[in-house]
Amino acid sequence: MAGHQRISTANDQRENGRQQVFEAIRQAGRIARIDIARETQVSPATVTAITSELLSAGLIEEITPEGDRTGAKRGRPRVALKVRGAAHLIAGIKISDRSATVILVDFEGQTVGEYDHELPGPVMSPEEMVSLVMRALAGACNAAGRDISEVSGVGLGIAGLIDATRNFVHWSPSLDQRNVELGRMLSDAMPVPFYMDNDANLVAKAEQLFGEARNVSDFIVITIEQGVGMGIVIDGRIYRGERGCGAEFGHTKVQLDGALCRCGQRGCLEAYVGDYALLREANIRGSAQPEDDLSALYARAKAGDAMARSIFDRAGRMFAMGLANVINIFDPSLVILSGEQMTFDFLYGSDVLDRVKSSVVQVDAPLPEIRVHKWGDLMWAKGAAACAMEGVSELTIRNLGADAA
Ligand SMILES: [Zn+2]
Repeated sequence: MAGHQRISTANDQRENGRQQVFEAIRQAGRIARIDIARETQVSPATVTAITSELLSAGLIEEITPEGDRTGAKRGRPRVALKVRGAAHLIAGIKISDRSATVILVDFEGQTVGEYDHELPGPVMSPEEMVSLVMRALAGACNAAGRDISEVSGVGLGIAGLIDATRNFVHWSPSLDQRNVELGRMLSDAMPVPFYMDNDANLVAKAEQLFGEARNVSDFIVITIEQGVGMGIVIDGRIYRGERGCGAEFGHTKVQLDGALCRCGQRGCLEAYVGDYALLREANIRGSAQPEDDLSALYARAKAGDAMARSIFDRAGRMFAMGLANVINIFDPSLVILSGEQMTFDFLYGSDVLDRVKSSVVQVDAPLPEIRVHKWGDLMWAKGAAACAMEGVSELTIRNLGADAA
């Protein structure tokens, strides 16, 4: 926000132009210069100047029309531009309670390699997390036949309250300490730009770039895994709040003095619908063999086991109340329910959706669309890579300006 106090200079305008043009190329996949000018409102002469800078920096490349099957139009073929994949190697890492999932992508977003690194346990010290990230990165590079020194940027997604503007972890269920300068520790271990975010924001980013929310400017993503997360996109940008602690849907209260949550407070939505909450309920009776398999519990509910059913029914009702509250506050055009647990339909079954509808403020206009998107840790890692890709693009283009000045 410091930017608005400065008077914008010709250099700033040129840099904004570069960022805009590059972003237009990335979004389009392949695009001709004249179409960039039309979409960005930057003059054709400036587009030509900027694209030749980007070309000589190796960030983009020209495509011959013969090779461009999608752009086959009658008339004189136009040369298209695209991001040059080989320009940068980017890593995205998602840390869940079971594993660190790594995806390596080129600068175009094409997958170069995938890797899964199993965790010894769900909670670790900050030092252990740094060494875990380094091991997972090395493993991924090794498996893809690349050297770790080739990586130009790393995106990291972890659960919790993350201040993405300064790579600071207020609190994470994966760490045994609060207030961790994780970004600084990681940069000390590996001198490349690190970009961190709450994993729900990364899913929102991935939905926006590759998923269900392409060309949607106002939408909400709700992620359900161990915990419940939310990513809010307003006018095409992720809304983060002042301290980077916004959108904590999982810790909105649905019951006064209710069930105990991992965050230490009571009555949070997550304490009723998160994986751990469902298993905790299932184990309340005590047994020689504690229930630790959510799929098995769900199968029992489906088969008519009354206790198992009551666990999922309550979770569904609590979730419906939370979702209706979100719609009442934001009135988004689209809500995406996203995550692995989406394989269990108790959170989006017709009775849950009916309950949401009856709790949303009634007007003579259709309700926001609710879409279900099931995906695994790999797509979360892809969201992390997407964040790093954006960050590295911005940085590279800024440096381009500094070199030119
Ligand atoms: Zn909580």
